[in-house]
Amino acid sequence: MLTQQHTDLCQQVRAFGEAEIAPRVSAMEETRAVEHHLPQLIARQGWIGVAVSRRFGGMGAGHLAKTLIIEELSRVSAAMGTAAQASQLGTAMIVHHGSSEQQQDWLPRVADGSCLPTIAVTEPGSGSHVLGMESTARRSRGDWVLNGRKCFVGNSHVGGVHGVVVRTGRGRGHGSLSAFLVEADRPGLSVPAHRPRHGLHGFACGELVLDNCRIPAANMLGEPGDGLAVAYSSSILYGRANLAAVALGIHQAVVDTSSAYAGSQRRYGRPLAALSAVEQRLGQMRAGLMSGRVIAYDAVSRLDRGEACDDELVNAKLQTARWAQESAQWGMEVHGAAGLLVEHGIERLHRDAQHLWAPAGTGDIQAKRLAEGVTGHHTQHLPWSVLLAPSLASTCDGMTRSPAPSGVLAEAHA
Ligand SMILES: Cc1cc2nc3c(=O)[nH]c(=O)nc-3n(C[C@H](O)[C@H](O)[C@H](O)COP(=O)(O)OP(=O)(O)OC[C@H]3O[C@@H](n4cnc5c(N)ncnc54)[C@H](O)[C@@H]3O)c2cc1C
Repeated sequence: MLTQQHTDLCQQVRAFGEAEIAPRVSAMEETRAVEHHLPQLIARQGWIGVAVSRRFGGMGAGHLAKTLIIEELSRVSAAMGTAAQASQLGTAMIVHHGSSEQQQDWLPRVADGSCLPTIAVTEPGSGSHVLGMESTARRSRGDWVLNGRKCFVGNSHVGGVHGVVVRTGRGRGHGSLSAFLVEADRPGLSVPAHRPRHGLHGFACGELVLDNCRIPAANMLGEPGDGLAVAYSSSILYGRANLAAVALGIHQAVVDTSSAYAGSQRRYGRPLAALSAVEQRLGQMRAGLMSGRVIAYDAVSRLDRGEACDDELVNAKLQTARWAQESAQWGMEVHGAAGLLVEHGIERLHRDAQHLWAPAGTGDIQAKRLAEGVTGHHTQHLPWSVLLAPSLASTCDGMTRSPAPSGVLAEAHA
């Protein structure tokens, strides 16, 4: 499944992570402040444009390559992996729903790393209930005027352009929302101070306040009433896969950290790793990681091949998040009391893993969606991976498809 291009990319990202990100992790943990420099440095590597067509200067390397980049970054710092994935969603809004002028304007800047887009859908009173949002846009002298408050916006403090979904129609129907591009320096847009969070320290995930924020009509993404489609398609095709990649990165780090600790300690005159309870946990952790890679890489490879795969993406997010959280708990147990000490790193991974449940659909939402596939309660007729197949093809126009000589999937980039 991995080509030589993929394995080379993994090595490149890993070298970058070790050289540039790893030395900053303890400072991010200590200060808990927003990290501005690293997301921009990651963007300047061209990695936010990994699934942007070469026509716009992107890598055109597709969704498996995107997954590998996010996974490798998350292995070193889940906060920076999450920052990289958040801007991929904002980018997806422009790739799949932007006009040709919007694409010409923004995608070259995404590709060269000078602009980090965001996606702003969640509100304090809605969350999973996207159609329950209250923020609005109203017409005024040919412009749109936006009012409301978005929360948990990934890269809120470092984003250059925000893909904001708000209410433009009456009622709660599917056509009641629209999407807009709001530049970070627009008058009427403000970003309140960063609030402390459980983990992912360094990652900006804050609020956007829209107070009579006037934007030109040309900033609308798609047509009036397309907001729900913009939000859902970006979340299903990109968000699910991206969070699966973050989960894999955290999971790999949990396995690395726990096995190193168990190998370095002695109890009862032999290595800790030789105790059957510890050995069982390490084995189960690795099983979850291997299975997670198979389902996540398979799902995104289907996107690259132009196959229908919405449910596979949903499943990948559900399972990789669950398995990473389970392993993070086992990792804490393998460390005993030492796991509570910051210096071993496992408590950071345990905290960061808690952030996998909610984004891009909570675990409940993923399970509900998969259940609908068997109960016949699917509200949408065609999968997004089918509906957006023409524009998805442009996301991997720079990809070579030859198999890697080794042909190894799961631990090829170990
Ligand atoms: C790290 C991180 C990054 C994020 N990035 C972004 C971003 O970039 N942009 C953005 O807009 N948002 C972002 N979010 C917010 C995320 O999209 C929301 O957290 C998510 O949509 C869930 O909403 P909520 O947290 O308000 O939970 P709620 O929807 O309030 O859910 C609360 C509980 O109820 C359950 N529940 C809700 N509805 C149902 C249902 N229909 N069936 C069964 N159970 C249900 C949930 O599973 C959960 O357990 C991010 C969140 C995190 C943690």
